[in-house]
Amino acid sequence: MAKEITSRAQDYSQWYNDIILKSDLADYSAVRGCMVIKPHGFALWENMRDQLDKMFKETGHVNAYFPLFVPKSLFEAEEKNAEGFAKECAVVTHYRLKTDPDNKGKLIVDPDAKLEEELVVRPTSEAIIWNTYKGWIQSYRDLPLLINQWANVVRWEMRTRLFLRTAEFLWQEGHTAHATRQEAIDETVQMLNVYATFVEEYMALPVVKGIKTESERFAGAEDTYCIEALMQDGKALQAGTSHFLGQNFAKAFDVKFSDRENKLDYVWATSWGVSTRLIGALVMAHSDDDGLILPPRIAPLQVVIVPIFKGEEQLVQISEKVNVIVKELKALGISVKYDNSDNARPGWKFAEYEKKGIPVRIAIGARDLENNVAEVARRDEKTKESISLDSIAQHVHELLEEIQQNIYNKAKAYQQEHITKSDSWDDFVKLLDEKAGFIAAHWDGTAATEEKIKELTKATIRCIPLDNEQEAGKCILTGNPSTQRVLFARAY
Ligand code: AMP
Repeated sequence: MAKEITSRAQDYSQWYNDIILKSDLADYSAVRGCMVIKPHGFALWENMRDQLDKMFKETGHVNAYFPLFVPKSLFEAEEKNAEGFAKECAVVTHYRLKTDPDNKGKLIVDPDAKLEEELVVRPTSEAIIWNTYKGWIQSYRDLPLLINQWANVVRWEMRTRLFLRTAEFLWQEGHTAHATRQEAIDETVQMLNVYATFVEEYMALPVVKGIKTESERFAGAEDTYCIEALMQDGKALQAGTSHFLGQNFAKAFDVKFSDRENKLDYVWATSWGVSTRLIGALVMAHSDDDGLILPPRIAPLQVVIVPIFKGEEQLVQISEKVNVIVKELKALGISVKYDNSDNARPGWKFAEYEKKGIPVRIAIGARDLENNVAEVARRDEKTKESISLDSIAQHVHELLEEIQQNIYNKAKAYQQEHITKSDSWDDFVKLLDEKAGFIAAHWDGTAATEEKIKELTKATIRCIPLDNEQEAGKCILTGNPSTQRVLFARAY
């Protein structure tokens, strides 16, 4: 029988798509570059969203909602931002269709329903939000303004990939306003740290925190901070960004406040976002050739129990015991499903839950019941052990924590093995081809060199790590002097 999921070794890209489709995370749609997020994928997103939302609220933020459409005149106001996003904007020009007089049953755009001003479908919301903030901020008493929005945005990406890069995606975008430059910078760094903590502690994915170079910076930002993760094929992925926007948007939208001395000044801004791309990161970083591997802390379902029985009588006996275990697990805050459906054989169910990445599977048959045990299998290592029913709930509770840690440790070991220093061009190119991962190399600090390296190798500067040490050296390409190493990688 042909294997359902292409192996990583055979074709990494195909493996990634297979996993997503076969584990029921998402499906292709009729719209180019847009996908359908299926219930299993959406439950995962909900868990990620809920945890992030909690962390945003713990750091003083509140949620609000702004319109999907941005009038073009507002969109244009911050020039750099507008220019950066212009080439990937969907634009609404008309508000009505009508029946085609020459072709009954077909619809055409009604030329009489042309909008006076075109509407840009938001690729990001700074413009509409800062236009609104203008009416909300007058004095230092109105600051800081700490708002987050959960929304969808549209960026007309030419090359799309499920979750990692879609034309429409779900995300959150924080937009904050501050009285001082320092306060805004502190906020930018705080939110970067929130992202890093979330991705490491919940998604079990180690990241490097850093700052983007000018050419990779968010359009309209003074500084873009980012977290960068490594996938199993050694490619990097930008997993989240936090931007210090300076006074750029306040100036564009004329948002001033009077300070304690009654002096007028422009407001300082930040924005920060993570998207459904994080689900792609999760898949690419942890999963194996049999399917998804999900960290227990964000898995939509942590434990599944499968009965192995012949006939109704055995099922009743098993179910009686399982009901007790389910109660015990739930009391410990563990999500659990008892799959006693009789429309599939246990072996089929095992494979299905394995594919879907459920961290722990408990199988229990009539013989097990006699011995007061059950078989507990962990998805990450694919090992099984027989556990006494008397202590099974507590055992699973501890096992879930162990799995979470194990998934993180594996990814961390991979990351550590794949940050390599390089001091010569030949070695740099060889490393990119043969080992991949992050390459820590000197760079002369110019956009021209960065561009040239990208052109020659497809590697980009992922970031200048925040914890970088200053070190005198020579640029990997030009030999010009440099004061620090930056991280290069080929990236998604
Ligand atoms: P940005 O506003 O460009 O800083 O992006 C904010 C977040 O959205 C980052 O975490 C990006 O990784 C993510 N992102 C950007 N473009 C896409 C896309 N086409 N599909 C999914 N996520 C994206």
